[in-house]
Amino acid sequence: MVDTQEHEGTISAGEPRHVRVGILGAGFGGLGTAIRLGREGIDDFVIWERHEDVGGTWWANTYPGCQCDIPSHLYSFSFAPNPEWSRTYPMQPELRDYLRRCAERFGLIERIRFGCEVLAAEWDEAAGRWRVDTSDGPFTADVLVAAPGPLSEPSIPDLPGLGGFEGEVFHTATWNHDHDLRGKRVAIVGTGASAIQVVPAIQPLVEQLTVFQRTPPWVVPHRDRPITEPERRAYRRFPLLQRLARAGVYFGRELLVPGLAYQPRIMKAVERLARANLRREIPDPELRERLTPDYAIGCKRILPSSSWYRTLMEPNVDVVTSGVEEVRPNGVVCPDGSVREVDTIIFATGFYVTDIPIAPRVRGVGGARLSEVWDGSPRAYRGTAVAGFPNLFFLVGPNTGLGHNSIVFMIEAQLAYVMDALKAMRRRGAGRIEVRREAQEAYNARIQERMGRTVWTTGGCSSWYLDSKGKNTTIWPDFTFRFWNATRRFDPEAYELAPAPAGVTT
Ligand SMILES: Cc1cc2nc3c(=O)[nH]c(=O)nc-3n(C[C@H](O)[C@H](O)[C@H](O)COP(=O)(O)OP(=O)(O)OC[C@H]3O[C@@H](n4cnc5c(N)ncnc54)[C@H](O)[C@@H]3O)c2cc1C
Repeated sequence: MVDTQEHEGTISAGEPRHVRVGILGAGFGGLGTAIRLGREGIDDFVIWERHEDVGGTWWANTYPGCQCDIPSHLYSFSFAPNPEWSRTYPMQPELRDYLRRCAERFGLIERIRFGCEVLAAEWDEAAGRWRVDTSDGPFTADVLVAAPGPLSEPSIPDLPGLGGFEGEVFHTATWNHDHDLRGKRVAIVGTGASAIQVVPAIQPLVEQLTVFQRTPPWVVPHRDRPITEPERRAYRRFPLLQRLARAGVYFGRELLVPGLAYQPRIMKAVERLARANLRREIPDPELRERLTPDYAIGCKRILPSSSWYRTLMEPNVDVVTSGVEEVRPNGVVCPDGSVREVDTIIFATGFYVTDIPIAPRVRGVGGARLSEVWDGSPRAYRGTAVAGFPNLFFLVGPNTGLGHNSIVFMIEAQLAYVMDALKAMRRRGAGRIEVRREAQEAYNARIQERMGRTVWTTGGCSSWYLDSKGKNTTIWPDFTFRFWNATRRFDPEAYELAPAPAGVTT
């Protein structure tokens, strides 16, 4: 990745290529945008993708055991069902291939600039369009759709001594497949959603595995199972059946919302299940104690796994219930001063979420940088539009993340909204659309007011949902159908629409 500091807001000279819509990212968000634009008859778009292929999350994360944790009947596009899923929770290659097939089927491959990183984007008020600098040269775009991904920039803690480590170091999202783990002594830092998948997958290979756990997760049994051929045949012949399965998963997941977002006490029932799971799986009371969370279930993502606890009891696995103090050339120092000699360190430490690297690269009205405007606390209107940044739509923007359901549902809701906004622009002959600051502020005040009573606020944990100010600017704090309802139609009264400058068509 190109250094953000080096490129912040620098627009290179040269004759730019103009497009109606510029799309950043070729994951679920970017591909979904392109497909929906095609359906609306908007053909003049380009997708900039810094990776070598489509898939986003599902291209980048290739660590052993990588798997979705929302059933793929739901974790897939509603307009591109896949009756061929091999299991209820497919592994990464199957999701990557699904997204590749979608891109091919909807004729997107030739519209994507692969290996093309967006370095800077600047709103040009006089021209009424975005000037976008990419590693492939300059572009201009009437409208920018940013789908950089909520979890696409791996974050590695700045540990003292890490630079001097003589072994191999990598993050789960940038797995080094050339490094043979067989017979290695491995430290894995973190016990979140990726760690819980990768640890059981690599434990049989390695000589010794030390798991550094700062906060234990709540873990429930995984419901993954193969989908049988008769089931697949039924889905092929009767697509309605798969739609029903999708709806079943969706509403089943929404049953968690009353507990997560309204009455955290309800989550006690789920907590009892997780505690019973822990008791069943970990007979050793001392280890069980170390693996028992001290916060309410749901405050951090609830993790499904039927192999995590068993793996932690294997003789070659050791759980250190503290962070890493420092790294030495041949090992890792624990807070008690003891040293674990290791030859590989794997970071399962998550991503930059509320401080996304695209924010300093985007400059709006008057040259203001999005990162400065947000000042560590991302805010948008309906998670999509930001005051001061005309003609820019964010996918999976602030407060659209979920702890319990499929992000693809939220993306599709946002896409309906963006498409309707584009139609409104065309209908009204507008070339410039900007959300009103008051509308954005009132919206965010309501979100934060709602957030107060959710388990993410009252649950007693510190999670990656919180930004640098301690505000939860990541999660949607309600039933997801409420978000769908809020984004079903574009609401022009919340926006200022202005005509395009002379000579610019919309
Ligand atoms: C291991 C893992 C498992 C997950 N499992 C689930 C799950 O089961 N259910 C669920 O709902 N969610 C899950 N998620 C969350 C997941 O990120 C979203 O579901 C979804 O993939 C988001 O799609 P997206 O298109 O917004 O982002 P991404 O898939 O991250 O795609 C963003 C794309 O933008 C590109 N990009 C970013 N910046 C630039 C730039 N400057 N220039 C050019 N290109 C750029 C990136 O390279 C990337 O390809 C998971 C995440 C991870 C990491």
